[in-house]
Formats: sequence, structure tokens, C-alpha cells
Amino acid sequence: MAQPAEKKKVLVIGGGFGGVFAAKALERQGRGKLDVELVNANNYFVFQPLLPEVAAASIHSSDAVVPLRQLLRRLQVRQAEVMGIDFAKKSVIVVQGTRRIPIDLAYDELVIALGTGVDLKRFPGLPEHALTIKDLSDAHRLRTHVIGCLETADVTEDAEVKRQLLTFVVVGAGFSGVETVAEMRELVTRALKYYPNIKRDDVRVYLIEYADRILPTFPADLAEYATQRLQMHGVEVLTGVGTTAATGTAVELTDGRIIPTSTIVATIGNGPHPIVSTLGLDLHWGRIKTDRFMRVPGLDSVWALGDAALIPLVDDPKEDPADYATQTAQFAVREGQQIAANIVAKLDGKDPKPFAYKSKGSLASLGMSKAVADVYGIKLSGTLAWLLWRGFYLSFLPGFAAKLRVGVTWLLNSVMPPNIVQIQSDRPTTRYIHYRKGDKVFEPGMLIDGFYTVTKGSFQLTIDNPETGEHFEKVFGPGEHFGERVLVRSALRTGLVVALEDGVLLFIEQKAFTRFARAFPFLDNYFKDYIERTFGGTDKSFAPRSANPKSELETLP
Ligand SMILES: Cc1cc2nc3c(=O)[nH]c(=O)nc-3n(C[C@H](O)[C@H](O)[C@H](O)COP(=O)(O)OP(=O)(O)OC[C@H]3O[C@@H](n4cnc5c(N)ncnc54)[C@H](O)[C@@H]3O)c2cc1C
Repeated sequence: MAQPAEKKKVLVIGGGFGGVFAAKALERQGRGKLDVELVNANNYFVFQPLLPEVAAASIHSSDAVVPLRQLLRRLQVRQAEVMGIDFAKKSVIVVQGTRRIPIDLAYDELVIALGTGVDLKRFPGLPEHALTIKDLSDAHRLRTHVIGCLETADVTEDAEVKRQLLTFVVVGAGFSGVETVAEMRELVTRALKYYPNIKRDDVRVYLIEYADRILPTFPADLAEYATQRLQMHGVEVLTGVGTTAATGTAVELTDGRIIPTSTIVATIGNGPHPIVSTLGLDLHWGRIKTDRFMRVPGLDSVWALGDAALIPLVDDPKEDPADYATQTAQFAVREGQQIAANIVAKLDGKDPKPFAYKSKGSLASLGMSKAVADVYGIKLSGTLAWLLWRGFYLSFLPGFAAKLRVGVTWLLNSVMPPNIVQIQSDRPTTRYIHYRKGDKVFEPGMLIDGFYTVTKGSFQLTIDNPETGEHFEKVFGPGEHFGERVLVRSALRTGLVVALEDGVLLFIEQKAFTRFARAFPFLDNYFKDYIERTFGGTDKSFAPRSANPKSELETLP
């Protein structure tokens, strides 16, 4: 009796729009012939177009995601992180679970759908200080951050700090930038009634775009309408200007302007996915070059799609983005369906078909129940476009439960006050902080936060004791450090540290630093000696202990 042919293993890496729709179509079209497995870092699919709504607390975080196992019930889903690909061995290296031991997953056909990364390195300080909006955790972090700014701005007595906290800057005016700025403005406006010490005029929201207009993929008249709507709602739209650098307290623009702000959201800087850039593949504009069938040239059985891939729409593409598939969900879904058909055709010994798709148009929400739409060549703006936007994304959202949840939340939101609960998410305990000349790192009376190492520039510490008239000064350069007395005790700062030039500090939070130093007697001893040598022993601190009515805490530089 003839043995049934062995099933071919198709591995899809990446569970976004491209990967999910490819895996679904592969399972359907290759049933009985293919063994399909999808690998994704999280166990859920993120509906990215709704992330600005999550950031603005219009919907819950969980409403913008769908569990992959519910979406893809008939195939193997593996929550694991892709670390590399061995094309010669036809295997993908992943780590999974808590043990994080690399394992190899063999494939017969491989579909790369890892999306893109964010690359802001060209702008000093932006990688460290800008928030991004690509993933659920980004959207959650942004929401928490904005509400945190309102909370502090409502109670601070420092006018400069208040101004920074109430200035919000979004960089990049493609549709994710426009939707993010609009949603953020709406959240702040609706929330203000709960913050009695903040006036509407105290809040400044900027949208910064390097091109000479916003929404470059929309017709000019719709972009103009969007600009006017945003301006009406208090967004200052700055076009023809980009960012050059950022610090924790300001963003610098190409025209020399410096905007003091605590919130920079970068929607620019799409770069290659960090794993994709290590694979030795032919990349152009940070994307994997494919042929018209979405095959990766020179590699047997490797396909790529979605934002990660550069898929030509014509036989002889020029250096013109219009000759390639665009990086949108709309395209990724169609590519997923076509790639599945091509893989099945290949295994059946048939010819694959070139990818061809014409955009059906674009939609962008402008907040406050307004949107712009350019669909099938019909241009719409205002409330009708907004209803279309909502209807379209609701229908596009995969899974009935997700549609229902989002629909109900939208309805409730139109009559309920905004949700301003701030659920803190963890910040990294070690981070780089950029400073401009003259910026204060800390000043007397502040609660100590951690340990600082200078990686660039120079910083001056000054301690003045008003009681004794004693004065201490020291300049720290690259490789030197300050704040190490967190090891000795908890305290308030007595010293002022100011950046003497533009510079960067590596900051380690107190608990993390103390734990680390204590685990290494060598380090612990080094710092104790250093404190003794530099400050003449902890007992000789200039701390105006009794002079500080705020706290019983001791004080430290
Ligand atoms: C804020 C925002 C709004 C948008 N709005 C719209 C819109 O209105 N309309 C539209 O058409 N498009 C929109 N887009 C663009 C659209 O979302 C993308 O084009 C689309 O998501 C691309 O799909 P993809 O599958 O290529 O990548 P992604 O959706 O980014 O999926 C990549 C997947 O790979 C996974 N992954 C990454 N690295 C690893 C790893 N090492 N191991 C395992 N898994 C990994 C990720 O977790 C993710 O699930 C928007 C994008 C953003 C960010």
C-alpha cells in the first residue's frame, strides 16, 4: 500500500498582519499537505492601527490584541523569540520559556514576517528619551507617561517643570503620528477637568514633520483639512522642520528651536528588524529584497512579506517607493494570502503568481470624532469619515470577541469620562540620559535616586553649606562617576550637578546599583574608599540636616 506523502513543514516567523494572514491561508490552502507552525514573541496578535487609541485610553490594552491561539486554532503556535536563521541547515534558532536555551526549528519552507525595528540613532538622545508606538507595551507606556505628566503638573510649584510636563511633542506626521497626536490631545483635553491647577492654555502639543506637509500618502486637500482640524484642537503643526537631538527635558529642531518637554513620541525611524539586519540578506531601505513572488533571491525556500520585505509591484522597479508594496496592514494581509498560494503552488509543482495589489485607500482618525478618508478614490472628511474609520477598523479587527469589546468600549467612551488611572509600568533600572549644556542633573533637597557615570561631556558638582560657609566643587568627565553615596545611606541631595557641555550619563537606580555593588566586595570597597578620599568620610558631609524641614532623611551630594 502506498504511504501517504510526508507533510512539508512551513515555518512562519512573526505573528503580525503578514504572518497571521499567511499562516491562516497556508493552513486552509495546504490542509493535509502542510504542517504549519507560527512563531511569535508574544502569544497575541497586535492590531497596530488601534495603538494610538490604547495610548489615549480610548480602549483597553487588551482590546487591541487577540490571542494567537484563538485566531489560529488549527495550527501550531509557538511563543518564542527568533534569535537567528541558519539558511544552510534550513533551521530557525529560537529561545522560549524561562530557560532560554537556543533550540533549532527545522523548516522546508520559511516565511519571514518579523516587521521592522525602530532606528533613531541618527538623532542623539532620541533613542533614550523618545517613546515609540509600535507595540502594546509602547502604547501602555505612553498612556501612563501622559497621565503621570498631568498628575505632577497639577501639583508642582516649579513653573519650568510644569511647562515641560505640559508640552507634548510627536515627531513624524504619517498616519501613526497624526493619529497619536490627535488621540493624545483628546485625552489631555478630556482629562483636564480633573486637574484643577492646569488650564487649557498651559498645555502645548506639537506635531513635527520634516516634509512640507502632513499625511504624505493622502491627497493634499485632505492633508490640509487634517492640519486645520488639528490646529483647531490646539495642536501646533510644524512642517518643513525635523529633530536633531533630544534630552530628558527638551527636543531640538533643525531650525535651531529648542522645545522644553518631558514627552517626545517618535513615529519616525523605521529601520530594519534587529534580527533581519544580522542575517546577511540583501537589504534595501532596511527591508529584505524579494522578487515579485515574495521569494528571497539566492535562498532556497525562503519567503518574506509585510513591513520586513521590499516587494516589487512591477518587473523593473526604480528607486521609487511607488514601485513597491507599501508598509501597511492592508498590503501585509494581501501579501499573506498570496504567499500562501505561492508556497502551495510551488509544492504542487505549479507556477507561483506575482504579487499585485492596488491600495484601496487610506483612513486617518483626527480625534474629536473627525477623520479623513480617501477610499476607492472618494475623498471624505469630518464625522462621516470618522464613522467610516471606526466601521472599517471594527470589521477588520480579527475575531468576533475583539470586535464586540472594542465596539462596546467605543460606545461607552462617548458617554463616560476618560479613564485616567495610571498603572505604573516598570522603567529600566539602567538607562542613558542626555543633557544639554546648563541642564541640572539634580539639586539640593531632591531625594537621591541612584548612581551616575559620565559617558560623554563634563558635569560640575557644587555643594554649599549655608551654615558653615563651606564650599566644595568637582568636575566629572568621561569614565568618572558621582552619586555613589547611595551605597552609604538613603538621603536627600545637598549638591547641585549641572552639565558644563552637552553630555550623556549612564544612570543606575539606587536599588539596582546597591544590589550590584554589594554582590561584589571589590566594587563595594572601591566605592567606600572613593567616598572617604573624595568627601573626607561620610561623617564630614555638608548635610544641613536640621535645616531641612521636609524630612528626617540625611542629605547627600
Ligand atoms: C501606530 C500604528 C498605526 C498604524 N495604522 C495603520 C492603519 O491605519 N492602516 C494600515 O494599513 N496600517 C497601519 N499601520 C501599519 C501596519 O500596522 C503595519 O504595516 C503592519 O502591522 C505590518 O505587518 P507585519 O506583519 O509586517 O509586521 P508586524 O505587524 O509588526 O508584526 C511583526 C511580528 O513579529 C513579531 N516579532 C518581531 N520580532 C520577533 C522575534 N525576534 N521573534 C519572534 N517574533 C518576533 C512581533 O511580535 C510581531 O507580532 C500602523 C502602524 C502603527 C505602528
